[in-house]
Amino acid sequence: MRSYRIASIPADGIGPEVISAGLEVLEALVARDGGFKLEVDHYDWGSAYYRKHGVFMPEGSLATLKKADAIYFGAVGAEDVPDHISLWGLRLPICQGFDQYANIRPTRVLPGVTSPLRDVGPGDLDWLIVRENSEGEYAGHGGRAHRGLPEEVATEVAIFTRVGVERIMRYAFGQAQKRARKHLTVVTKSNAQKFGLVMWDEIALEVSADFPGVTWDKELVDAMTMRMVRKPQSIDTVVATNLHADILSDLAAALAGSLGVAPTGNVDPSRRYPSMFEPIHGSAFDITGKGIANPVASFWTAALMLEHLGEARAAAALMVAVEQVCAAGVLTPDVGGKATTKEVTAAMVEAIKGSNLG
Ligand code: NAD
Ligand code: MN
Repeated sequence: MRSYRIASIPADGIGPEVISAGLEVLEALVARDGGFKLEVDHYDWGSAYYRKHGVFMPEGSLATLKKADAIYFGAVGAEDVPDHISLWGLRLPICQGFDQYANIRPTRVLPGVTSPLRDVGPGDLDWLIVRENSEGEYAGHGGRAHRGLPEEVATEVAIFTRVGVERIMRYAFGQAQKRARKHLTVVTKSNAQKFGLVMWDEIALEVSADFPGVTWDKELVDAMTMRMVRKPQSIDTVVATNLHADILSDLAAALAGSLGVAPTGNVDPSRRYPSMFEPIHGSAFDITGKGIANPVASFWTAALMLEHLGEARAAAALMVAVEQVCAAGVLTPDVGGKATTKEVTAAMVEAIKGSNLG
């Protein structure tokens, strides 16, 4: 039987609530499918671990994680730890250490979920945002001098390499090619940022020659925010820099109804390393422990993970169950319902038990 090793890192805030919900649903799916199994290793890394040990994960963790076929991640961030410490302590070392250079963010309006955009329903908004995830504005290049003095200076240097831009562009064109509409929008700010992002445009043109079946256009990031709101139907696949796509995908999640339904994958397309799948949302301090966190993002995340592992049939069955449960109105408060995390999870397990995977 096909078997996959999953490293589960629920970490902080609502992370453990939504990841345990996701694992329960995955278990139901495995039982139903019968063709594969998952071996889950649980890791207690995160802010609580940091308070005890002074690090977010022990030394040698990447070597441990490398044995996994995929990583299922919750959220990291605590109220008493600065965000840049938690982010650079756990998520970014994994993303960068494992060269997960493609961050994929599918967005769609699920049935039963209302978009804040008037007249936009399922089918009108169906996007895949591809985010460059290894360099650009988050390359960690820069420094500070004369700290605390009036003459203090800080630099934050964006790094764009030909290798980095070309590989994300190829990946994005490839993803566009697999989708029904086969359209890619290349987002930059190449009017104002005239070096790295002009190179980005040039490379897009070069790579496009290898994908004659994909139509593509260019948009400046500020104009892109307007287009997402005003003409969501005109968008299919999007590729953008680390920072731009980070911002655009939060907007995308909001337009699709809630951050609580938005999934993402940090993918190493070369498959040298395990890829990491996580809900887009963070720790959500305001609802932690209340039992009302929306687990749909972590379910959809699990579907992305299964797809990556090659279990497309189980992934599709999982998404059918998500759509059924949402359409039936079993929704948490963030998407206008009254259900708890546990109730949504139970409804998912029932839907999967009743589903026909054939
Ligand atoms: P957040 O995503 O935690 O919360 C934003 C808002 O969305 C909150 O009102 C929250 O209740 C709501 N929300 C988020 N997920 C939800 C869900 N599943 N169900 C229902 N409501 C949900 O963002 P934030 O408040 O900016 O950040 C809180 C902490 O999380 C910070 O420490 C931040 O650094 C961290 N963070 C981590 C990640 C990550 O691990 N990938 C991502 C974003 C933020
Ligand atoms: Mn973000």
